[in-house]
This record gives sequence, structure tokens and C-alpha cells, in this order.
Amino acid sequence: MIENETVCKIQKEIENIRNNSQLASPAVTLLAASKGQGEEAIRAAIACGVTVFGENRVQEAEEKWPQILKVYPKVELHLIGPLQTNKAKQALELFDVIETIDRAKLAEALASEIAKLPPKERRFMIQVNIGKEPQKSGVMPEEADELIAMTQKLGLNVTGLMCVPPVEHPPGPYFALLREIALRNGLSELSMGMSDDYLTGVRMGSSCVRLGRVLFGEDSRKA
Ligand SMILES: *Cc1c(COP(=O)(O)O)cnc(C)c1O
Repeated sequence: MIENETVCKIQKEIENIRNNSQLASPAVTLLAASKGQGEEAIRAAIACGVTVFGENRVQEAEEKWPQILKVYPKVELHLIGPLQTNKAKQALELFDVIETIDRAKLAEALASEIAKLPPKERRFMIQVNIGKEPQKSGVMPEEADELIAMTQKLGLNVTGLMCVPPVEHPPGPYFALLREIALRNGLSELSMGMSDDYLTGVRMGSSCVRLGRVLFGEDSRKA
């Protein structure tokens, strides 16, 4: 189970790096990646001061979050996994931030559904397949500018970019590339860095680290 000391330790590490890096973002959000975690683990994380959570699947999120959000309405929920166009409406209803726009069709579906929903503050990020890996989702780096522009033109509030770099290489250069794409498009948010590479992420300018294992424990996920 998540502990206060763990959250404090990670926040201190992040602050240290932030204070010593030229590229660091003015603020870094700690997002708890809660896929596979039950309600009890999530409530424990909230008790430790975590206020931002990320889920990978719309259906799993719909099963556990509505009742938690009733009690903790200030929690900010991000979708950090792939989204199918037929789930766009459900995703818009539940999530505050959708980090995984990766194709024009999805941006169009979101824009068309959003028009039918009551207004709510929402943010969107473009997921970039920064290592051009066939098994990963995300727009190719060279096609990112076009997708960003197109998504903005549809009226979606695009605030940043998200990536999951290849596991077999050092992440620094990939984070640097994501940062470069964000900068040239005037986007200020960078969702980059997970349990194994969040300190590098912060050093390279991450504004949001998505942490699962370091927070909840290696083997804490339900099957
Ligand atoms: C699971 C997941 C994370 C957290 O990964 P850890 O290595 O457990 O920290 C972050 N981002 C995405 C997109 C994930 O699916």
C-alpha cells in the first residue's frame, strides 16, 4: 500500500532536480497511474495528498471512479491509455484531461462529442510515438505538428504532449525531442517520465510524471 513517506520522498527528489536543472518546468505534477488498483489503494493515495490520477482504460475507470469522485470531487482524472473513437463520449464525461490524442479521426470524434456535452474545463494532449515503435501508439514525431494544428483548429484545448519512450534506450534524447516539438508548437505541458525515468523526465522539462510502481509497489496490480 502507498505510504506518505514514499510520496514525500518522490516530491523532494523532484524538487531537487527541478532546482538544479535549466530545462525544468516551473511546476511538476505527480500523477498516480492507478490502472489495476482498487478503490482502497486509490483512497490511500488520496490520503497521502495525491490529487491527480491516470487511468488506461475507459471501462475500468468507469467501474471505479464515479463513486470515488463523489467523495473527492477535486481529484483530476487523466486518460493515459489509447482511446477508441466509439468511447470518446464516455471519456469526455469522466476525464478532465485526455492525454492520448494520436490521430485525426480521434480528434474529430472528440470535437463532435464535446459539442453535445455540458461545458466543463477540459485539457487535451497529443501522444507522440517518440521512438517510432510499431507496437506503441502515438502520432509519428514528423506528423505531430500537423495533428496539433488540426486538433486546435477543431477547438480542443491542446495544452501539451505526452510520450512513452523506448525501454531499451536512455530516455533523455527522446524527452528532449518531445520538448522540442512542444516548444515549436507553443505548448507548455509535457507528460513524460514513469517509475524508471521520472527524474530524467523532470530534468528534461517534464510538467507531469506518471507514476505507478514506485507509488503503489511493484506487484500491487490486480489481474
Ligand atoms: C502504467 C503506466 C504508467 C506508470 O508506469 P510505472 O512504470 O508503473 O510507473 C505511466 N504511463 C502510462 C501510459 C502507463 O500505462
